[in-house]
Amino acid sequence: MTDLVMSMEESFQEYFAALERSGNKDRCYICCRTPADVKRFLGFNEDGTPIEAREYGLEDVVLPPKLDVMSYRGERPVCVVCQLNFDGIFMLDEQDVLRRVIAEMERRREHLWPEPPPAEAP
Ligand SMILES: [Zn+2]
Repeated sequence: MTDLVMSMEESFQEYFAALERSGNKDRCYICCRTPADVKRFLGFNEDGTPIEAREYGLEDVVLPPKLDVMSYRGERPVCVVCQLNFDGIFMLDEQDVLRRVIAEMERRREHLWPEPPPAEAP
């Protein structure tokens, strides 16, 4: 088997194993974006061509097909947008702040997100 076929087979195995771990959801575990959502967020159509290419004269720019927008190698699928956001937090050495934010989101939801005012009775 060629290296390309081997790596494609490994990629498929990683993909299907990750989907199995995530209950067959091909979405980022953190932000719930699908791969198509991630491409759209980055400014590309699902086929890798830029959105509004004509307006900006970007006909020749295409997202490389090899560019991964989702990682399926870990415990759950994670998108490149979340990875970059976390990279920024880690570069700032704010892992402890992140843990406190997660703890607040878990245990102090009502404090963070006050209840909306009750709807008026009809
Ligand atoms: Zn994400």
